[in-house]
Formats: sequence, C-alpha cells, structure tokens
Amino acid sequence: MNPITVLGICYDQKSSFLQGPASAPALIRKSLHSGASNYYAENGVSFENDAIKDIGDFTVEEYFHIEKIVLDQLEKGQRLLTLGGDHSITFPILKAYAQHYTDIQILHIDAHADLYHDFEGDPYSHACPFARIMESKLATRLVQVGIRTLNPHQQEQSKKYGVETIEMKDFDMQILQTLTKPIYLSLDLDGIDPAFAPGVSHHEPGGFSTRQVIDIIQSIPIPIIGADIVEYNPTRDVQGITAALAAKLLKEIAGKMLG
Ligand code: MN
Ligand code: MN
Repeated sequence: MNPITVLGICYDQKSSFLQGPASAPALIRKSLHSGASNYYAENGVSFENDAIKDIGDFTVEEYFHIEKIVLDQLEKGQRLLTLGGDHSITFPILKAYAQHYTDIQILHIDAHADLYHDFEGDPYSHACPFARIMESKLATRLVQVGIRTLNPHQQEQSKKYGVETIEMKDFDMQILQTLTKPIYLSLDLDGIDPAFAPGVSHHEPGGFSTRQVIDIIQSIPIPIIGADIVEYNPTRDVQGITAALAAKLLKEIAGKMLG
C-alpha cells in the first residue's frame, strides 16, 4: 500500500452562501497538533506514522489549478487526503484521479447531493461537483449518504447520472458492503448534524452523529485510494468543536487508509 500525503486546498470561491473554508486547513492542523488529543486513530495507527506525509497548504487562485496540484502528487505514487476548501474542489481532484485510476467508486457523505447542473449560473459551484464528475465519467459509481435536501431537480440529476442517492431517512450501514472497488471518500462536514458540526456554512439538522460517521469510515470493506474533508467554515465554529471533529476524522480516515 502506497503512503498517504495530506495537503490543504485553501479555496472557497465557489461557495454560494458564505466564505470561510479557505482558512480551514490551517485550523484543522492546529487542532490536530494542539496537545488536547494524541495522534492515534482508534485502530491504533498513528498520524505521525512515517507513511503519512503532510505537505502543507496550497493557496489557489484559479479553480482548475487544483487538478495540477493533485496530479503532481499522484505522479509521485501517493494517495491523498485533502483538506478543503469548499466542496467544489472535489471535481478537479477527481479529474486528476481519473488519470491514474480506472473504475473509481465514490462514497460521498453530505447533507446535499451537490448535483445541480449549475448553481446561480456557475457550473463549478460547490453545489455542482458531482454532476460534473458523473457527466465527465470520472467515476463508475457514486454512492451518496446523509442526504436530506433533495429537490426535484437534483432527484432528476441523480436519476440521469445513475447516482445511488441514499437519503438520511433511509440510511442503512449495509450499503457499505456493496462497495467492491477501491473508493474515493468525499466527506462534507455538513453531512454531520450541526449539533456536532456547527462550523459549516449550511446548517441542515437531522444528520449523522460523529459516531455514525466514524463507524462508516471504519466499516468500509475495501481500500481507500483518496479522500477529502471539505466545507469546514471556521467563521461559524463554536469553541473549535468542528475543527476538533475534522482533526478526529482526519486521523480516522488516515488510520483506515493505512490500517
Ligand atoms: Mn457538499
Ligand atoms: Mn453539504
């Protein structure tokens, strides 16, 4: 199993409602290294493991530059764990991944399907990345969980692209056992209930508990080729609770990738 590179993408220009996620990576790291916790995932893998390399943050001015940043790392044979940034970054990340992997399955945790054809005229809005990924055929399967804002347009889009959109009200852990190919995990922190994750732009009550998301990560039955944690908005956080949550999930995902 090749090692993991952690990087931050400081970009929130595709956020439709509030800015803020561009400053997320540094604050997630600050929480990770704060001394309030240790570096161990629950499976015993340490974040300080030699197999994990943190290459710091990238400030991005031009949206498609993200693809190049990711491509440079994939060419070194690394698997990536990316800290966003808003959710728009996942499309250029997958554009790079599709040049290195075939038959990618995506597990997407979110309150929102992010399948808009365009949002307020922008096809690259953070409300659209999975429409772009599916129409560009960058993944062969997209499984979305935690969704609780489906409208008729996004329902239509889900059908059009053959997306498995599993609404929060219908969630069942069994879906994870159907994942058969190496997966890319895209984790929008607003998939988690705002009671656990207040530091997001779009509060949508009725979501996953922290424990449920950790259980999902730990129950993934196949290798993870890459992951992102997106949409942390520090301007909305309370006492750094959401930064600590993102740091915890960073450890759990890294632990799972290396465990
Ligand atoms: Mn999202
Ligand atoms: Mn969302």
